[in-house]
Amino acid sequence: MTITCTCGSVMRLSLRTLIYSSKVEINNVPIYTCESCHRSEVFSAVKGDLTSLIEHIADSQDEPSKIRFDECNELAFLLMKASDQELLHESLMNIIEERINELLDMLLLAKSLNDPAWVEELRGRLRQISDHYVISGTLGRDH
Ligand SMILES: [Zn+2]
Repeated sequence: MTITCTCGSVMRLSLRTLIYSSKVEINNVPIYTCESCHRSEVFSAVKGDLTSLIEHIADSQDEPSKIRFDECNELAFLLMKASDQELLHESLMNIIEERINELLDMLLLAKSLNDPAWVEELRGRLRQISDHYVISGTLGRDH
């Protein structure tokens, strides 16, 4: 997964740690970094989620010192899974499909348990993945 930097070089996607207001560590944030000028930018598909997470941290009284972004965002979770050594032979597409099936199974379970909060959370996670499908389709084009 690469995009082109303003300097013309390739930017590669990796999971990095962000430090918010010099005290909160946010781990596993998908960020593009340029190989030449080292400019970096947050993966556009997770920007919204990252923004609300940061707003949430800013609002909360007892802010945690460490947050795993892959626990809040499905795409970060999937990218982390894809970079897992044991799963290197599997394509990202397979991992995404497996995860969707897993989430749909959990959704059925949540519905049968009459747990609306869990149903809502799972729907949100499925939405994060489906939003990404649209975005990666756009990025994948040559023009
Ligand atoms: Zn650059």
